[in-house]
Amino acid sequence: MIGKKVHIKSFGCQMNKLDTALVTFALKDAGFTFTESASEADVVLINTCSVREHAEQRVISHLGRLQHIKKTRPDMVVGVIGCMAQRLDRKLLKHDAVDIICGPAQIPQITKLITETLKLKKEIVAVTENIRQKTDQRQAQALEDFESAYSAREKKIPGQAYVRVMRGCDNFCSYCIVPFVRGPEISRPPKAIIDQIRKLADTGVKQVTLLGQRVNSYKYKAGDKTYCLADLLRMASDIQGIEWIRFVTSYPSEEFFDEILRAMADLPKVCNYLHIPAQSGSNKILRAMNRHYTTDQYLHLLAKARDIVPAIAIAGDFIVGFPGETHADFEATVDLVKKARYKNCFIFKYSPRPDTKSDKKLADDIPLEVKKNRNTELLAVQEKISGELSAEYLGKEVRVLVEGLSKKPHLDSEKSDGNPQLIGRTATDYIVVFNAPPSLAGQFVKVKITKTSPLTLFGRLI
Ligand code: SF4
Repeated sequence: MIGKKVHIKSFGCQMNKLDTALVTFALKDAGFTFTESASEADVVLINTCSVREHAEQRVISHLGRLQHIKKTRPDMVVGVIGCMAQRLDRKLLKHDAVDIICGPAQIPQITKLITETLKLKKEIVAVTENIRQKTDQRQAQALEDFESAYSAREKKIPGQAYVRVMRGCDNFCSYCIVPFVRGPEISRPPKAIIDQIRKLADTGVKQVTLLGQRVNSYKYKAGDKTYCLADLLRMASDIQGIEWIRFVTSYPSEEFFDEILRAMADLPKVCNYLHIPAQSGSNKILRAMNRHYTTDQYLHLLAKARDIVPAIAIAGDFIVGFPGETHADFEATVDLVKKARYKNCFIFKYSPRPDTKSDKKLADDIPLEVKKNRNTELLAVQEKISGELSAEYLGKEVRVLVEGLSKKPHLDSEKSDGNPQLIGRTATDYIVVFNAPPSLAGQFVKVKITKTSPLTLFGRLI
């Protein structure tokens, strides 16, 4: 397919970013070239997210724009890949723009699917039937081979890469679509993961982020030994060239928790950062969400994390307006946020996802206006805490991995010295803005912090 131009648009989480990078590598290998403009492309791929209704609506409106382009370029092929493809299956063909539907497990076939569609000019659907059944061995091997062959290097952020350590999820939180679109939880073999990180290090990657829906439940049995995430952290730490290792997202559970924290405390390469969503501060709502902990148990985990790794920065996630959430339940969430003292929090308004337990069994009974107000109130509580924690960095020197040019101008930063504003990140996941030459992207530098805001630190390159 030499000369055919592909445009890829990606929605959703880090898993999707990784899948997009893998697809890009595979298509480049097959001779496709890439364009930033959908209207110039022969093939447009949309990597989709089903976690929230809003994410799906954005994909549908994007398909509307592509349909418009297709009126003048009828040969253009449009593929929907990822979670929404798996969830909606053939129903997506009702949209006139769509030619290819490819679920997350079929991504290794993407080159073949595109080539066939371009040649045969027919629609193709490739998704997993009965996704909750045990993944068949051939499919699992194809995913593993694909992942290992195209060890993705994060193109947009030099020096960084994501590495998946597990697929799917078996937790069935009542609001979550992931187990129904990504299938059963499967941990990848440690050897494959470590080989992949070694390969990435050989190409100049300095930071890897290990990905899993419940990354702390990583478990792989080989002979008499069961490997857990702490083992992966130790093995990855031994790889020359890798300087920082992160992992997301952690589920609040005692299983392996101490081992992982001890690895974080012992190994200088493991970043002192934990993203551990609580979702609610009300035990009644946590039960309805099918989260397997109470707020006391959750706070106990945070206390333990801070005890073992005193410099740890912790981030959280919350859903507001879950069915049945009373004002008292919301107040309990506010209370938890105050006690947890997160570095930052991701807060979402509940939206029912089709076929999940909460959608089938619970009425979406909290008015949108109330959801919005709770979201705003919780953000304000968190912003105050974030501001206090950021302020502790004032006057300090921090080590930062430079990501590249800052996308938007930050007026608060130091006066320009002729260099553009760059953006970098500390091991504790704080964003740092400073003026410096763009050639520093992908390098570690030291920055002295001169100003702070709740979500950003500003400083001067040392
Ligand atoms: S742990 Fe819960 S919220 Fe996270 S992916 Fe699994 S089911 Fe979804």
